[in-house]
Amino acid sequence: MRPYILAETTWKKLRNQEIELAILPWGATEAHNLHLPYGTDNIETEIIAAESARLAWEKGARLVVLPCIPFGVNTGQMDIRININMNPTTQYAILKDITDVLNRHRIRKFLILNGHGGNDFKQMIRELGVNFPDMFICSCNWYQAVDNSVFFEKDGGHADEMETSLMMFIAPEMVLPLNEAGNGHAKKFSIKALNEKWAWTERKWSKVTADTGVGDPSLASKEKGEKYFKAVTWKISELIADLYRSDINDLYE
Ligand SMILES: [Zn+2]
Repeated sequence: MRPYILAETTWKKLRNQEIELAILPWGATEAHNLHLPYGTDNIETEIIAAESARLAWEKGARLVVLPCIPFGVNTGQMDIRININMNPTTQYAILKDITDVLNRHRIRKFLILNGHGGNDFKQMIRELGVNFPDMFICSCNWYQAVDNSVFFEKDGGHADEMETSLMMFIAPEMVLPLNEAGNGHAKKFSIKALNEKWAWTERKWSKVTADTGVGDPSLASKEKGEKYFKAVTWKISELIADLYRSDINDLYE
């Protein structure tokens, strides 16, 4: 039993344990090309949270990792079979209840570790900050923690070389052979500004990609996944250790 994983610890251990920071992994349940499971984002995010927490715990940070929320915003994929959409307003309600608990127990530092591109907690954190002025809340997209182009040849964003490599390392029994995967080809917008990303709209997923993947997974390997996992968890453990050490009333220099 790992003392920093809430689901594995006991009240006996926890009731007098110093805890400064809570981490909430947040994923999604959605199709991932033809070769990765629907739970990919949850599997990845939960293990990245646990390993980053372990490294930070060893550096002295006292924290707790909450169970992963398994449903993300999938509003652009309502026609893809059993992709579970959780609307942003529902996510806010969940966050508000969890923040309320942490606030009552004086765990005033709260990190949301996000593993799904459709989730965006920024505006929710602004609103939570008004409702819980004593709390410090931040979010981190683990897939942006390091420069992915250092580790992978082909970029993408969904069930791509990065995610496939990572799953080959952390959950190889759940990855189908690469020759069963689709090519992950994704169409671009016909409007220039949307491709340049200074204008934004939601992508209608089934019009963009035939196999639900965005990004070619064919060059994925377990070795790439292992290197990436180690780099990402190390970087996030440093964030956690920094958060643990910081005075939330004195964050600027
Ligand atoms: Zn994913």
